[in-house]
Amino acid sequence: TSGTSTLTKRVLLAAPRGYCAGVDRAVVAVEKALETYGAPVYVRKEIVHNKYVVETLSERGAIFVNETDEVPEGARLVFSAHGVSPAVRESAAARSLDTIDATCPLVTKVHKEAVRFAKDDYDILLIGHTGHEEVEGTAGEAPEHVQVVNSPDEVDQVTVRDPEKVVWISQTTLSVDETMETVRRLREKFPSLQDPPSDDICYATQNRQVAVKKLAPECDVVIVVGSANSSNSVRLVEVALQAGARSAYRVDRSSEIDEAWLEGAATVGVTSGASVPEILVRDVVDLLEGRGFDDVQEVRTATEDLMFSLPRELRAGLKAAG
Ligand code: SF4
Repeated sequence: TSGTSTLTKRVLLAAPRGYCAGVDRAVVAVEKALETYGAPVYVRKEIVHNKYVVETLSERGAIFVNETDEVPEGARLVFSAHGVSPAVRESAAARSLDTIDATCPLVTKVHKEAVRFAKDDYDILLIGHTGHEEVEGTAGEAPEHVQVVNSPDEVDQVTVRDPEKVVWISQTTLSVDETMETVRRLREKFPSLQDPPSDDICYATQNRQVAVKKLAPECDVVIVVGSANSSNSVRLVEVALQAGARSAYRVDRSSEIDEAWLEGAATVGVTSGASVPEILVRDVVDLLEGRGFDDVQEVRTATEDLMFSLPRELRAGLKAAG
């Protein structure tokens, strides 16, 4: 009525976003190990797939390695949240490493499924990304029985020994919709395909996708905070676009935001992957507020209160240290 045509520029902040229970546990495990035993504490692979987290822990004395043979004999080694194959456990034991297993319990659950179906001599179709650490760990439980299916388009190439004895399982951090499409095509090919006993795509992955889907249709831009090697973060970009965001980008931190993305935008959605500390999201929101996007609204689709207890070896160590 005043005649002003100032556009309200707003931010829709997805919730849930950021840290899941498995990431929180893994990061706290490294912090507690450093406090209790002192530096250095070795960590196999990135404890979680986030640059900032890895840099921060490195500054505090964590040493990230690719393989167990880079760790001095007898030293302390943390296994990352993504899990490890039995072969890695064996090589750590052979070097007498003092291991702390920060594998997310929801990843361990998928390992157990692989072991169980391999024992029953199933062909196991592991839907996931070749080369991702979690997939290497899960497949390593039963290399003779597991084959990895990367996408719906790969279904054509899949062959099995006995089409009556096939089961699918999956990586925990995939796109729910794309995975269902892969399963649909697999079932077309193998009508007796068995489902896993419960959802392998974890609650955190699912919740973050539901939240971004809700806000995406209203957004000119969706900014996903997360690292390039973070599977669930990269999925959030894809899911946002599929759900109707006009554009979507992934950034490690606010300084990677290109001002051109914001030109003419009225609504910017913000979310973050399961390995992303909230401080990085705060920085993005602050930057947006500085550009006039000062109406910040949270769009919440679920609340989460799951927490996992610390790895057993660490709890024992903490107790002994008093
Ligand atoms: Fe565990 Fe899911 Fe978090 Fe991965 S994303 S650490 S499976 S809760």
